[in-house]
Amino acid sequence: MGRKVLVLAEVKDGNLRNVSYEAIAAAKTVSEGGEVVGVLLGESVRNLAEGLIHYGADRVVVVENDKLSNYSSDGFSQAFIAVVNEEDPEAIIFGHTSLGKDLSPKVASKQDAGLISDVIDVEVAGDNVVFTRPIYSGKAFEKKIVTDGIIFATVRPNNIAPLDKDESRSGDVSTLEVEIKDLRTIIKEVVRKASEGVDLSEAKVVVAGGRGVKSADGFKPLQELADVLGGAVGASRGACDAGFCDYSLQIGQTGKVVTPDLYIACGISGAIQHLAGMSNSKVIVAINKDPEANIFKVADYGIVGDLFEVVPLLTEEFKKL
Ligand code: FAD
Repeated sequence: MGRKVLVLAEVKDGNLRNVSYEAIAAAKTVSEGGEVVGVLLGESVRNLAEGLIHYGADRVVVVENDKLSNYSSDGFSQAFIAVVNEEDPEAIIFGHTSLGKDLSPKVASKQDAGLISDVIDVEVAGDNVVFTRPIYSGKAFEKKIVTDGIIFATVRPNNIAPLDKDESRSGDVSTLEVEIKDLRTIIKEVVRKASEGVDLSEAKVVVAGGRGVKSADGFKPLQELADVLGGAVGASRGACDAGFCDYSLQIGQTGKVVTPDLYIACGISGAIQHLAGMSNSKVIVAINKDPEANIFKVADYGIVGDLFEVVPLLTEEFKKL
């Protein structure tokens, strides 16, 4: 049979986000040999269409409009719903990102459909597409199927492996003209935090600091280790509440959920709310002075010691590799 599956591609700083490729891989499974259609929304994004095709999209629909230069629920939902109406897909996949979490329920509700959010795995079993998602802060997993209507899902970054890039792949790129009107919010300017670099939610390596880091300056050795490993710095809520770092770095139940290949927790006790945001990381290393700290229960490797001694030593050793 085969399904037509739309994938909303996400663009950041003029580049496609990795989660777009991961969503395409999920869409391939959902499509069961049907068609995967990438959707690009923005002011000037057509040049990115080829990248989606190299990672497995069969074709791409582009909506370009100056009202889409910055994300807004109103603008993007109008554009995306126009594509949905035009394409009449059987399934739609978003990244489980700030944008995807905002846009997907809006679009799903307009289609009278449900939404399976925060998917970490997708497989086909008989006639059903089965989505796996964590529940109870990651302590259990549930499997869900959609029995009626369009399948809507968001996929958690760093969980579904993208397909191999194949530059010989080709596909049609078409443009859809959409009139964006009656915007209730207009974003005039985006003011960025000074700290840029690897995107925390997509990072392959995360070096996270907790209250044990003791000050904003205490994060410097963590940043150095993250830089050497090509990773991003994260934090516990304890560190954010103490004013050592910005809340945008918070990992956990009320912060970001991350699934890197390597998570290094420095001076973090391992409260259940923190574990909810990182316990699915592939390899967890914990550095803590307290051998009884809860974080060691989820760690693959534990170092009992002072982070201000251990972290610089790790940085020096990794520099040699
Ligand atoms: P602490 O628990 O104070 O731990 C500090 C650790 O550092 C200790 O284990 C100590 O042994 C170690 N340490 C101290 N000095 C050193 C040193 N020099 N070297 C090595 N180790 C050292 N928390 C989150 O993280 N994310 C969330 O999203 C989140 N959401 C929450 C939601 C709710 C509704 C509630 C109630 C709480 C939430 N929390 C969250 C807070 C959570 O319960 C903990 O309070 C918090 O995670 C503790 O942060 P911490 O581990 O940095 O601090």
